[in-house]
Amino acid sequence: MGGLGDAGVYSFQASKAMTAGEGGLIVCRDQDVHDRVWSACNVGRAPGGRWYGHPSVGWNLRLTEIQAALLLPWLDRLDEEIERRNAFCAALERELAHVPEVTVVPRPEGTTRDSRHLLMLRLDAGVDRDFVLAAMAAEGVPLDAGYPPLGTMAALTAEGARVEPCPGAEEAARTVVWLRQAMLMDAPEAAGDVAEALAKVLTD
Ligand SMILES: *Cc1c(COP(=O)(O)O)cnc(C)c1O
Repeated sequence: MGGLGDAGVYSFQASKAMTAGEGGLIVCRDQDVHDRVWSACNVGRAPGGRWYGHPSVGWNLRLTEIQAALLLPWLDRLDEEIERRNAFCAALERELAHVPEVTVVPRPEGTTRDSRHLLMLRLDAGVDRDFVLAAMAAEGVPLDAGYPPLGTMAALTAEGARVEPCPGAEEAARTVVWLRQAMLMDAPEAAGDVAEALAKVLTD
């Protein structure tokens, strides 16, 4: 866990597979990074320093003990839940092999394990995604449009900001839909219902 860079970030916000309503966790391998993160989350205190000594500016971003009490026992069932989501995804991938105009977005090369926070499906060019989203919701399978490209956010397009073109992100934003993790917790047999609904909607 968290072995990809100087710091790994986990969110326990309400939509996540492990949630405490809000909050998160940062893991890091470097003591200096740790101390700076700790300080930023603890109103600028220094680790081991005086309680009312504030060498830097920080915020109160502490996870509460009540949140930790919700999260810690979750670790005991996390593996089982990840397996459950993977079984559903594998079943859906098999089912969707027979459905035209939609493919499962492959996992990045080198992925060794996937907690399956989301399953992303790519619709063929020319498919009306808004129609698919509305029709799938009507079929009782709510899909998600996912994120708009970051470069389209007003915060980044303010005058003077330089936004590089991101054709890959823009294409994904037009064609990709998400199944959220809560849906992936269903029994693998339910994958057939999802594929059936998609087949119906895509051939409508
Ligand atoms: C959940 C999520 C976030 C937001 O996390 P917060 O804890 O709400 O800040 C950001 N990026 C991705 C990819 C996420 O899944």
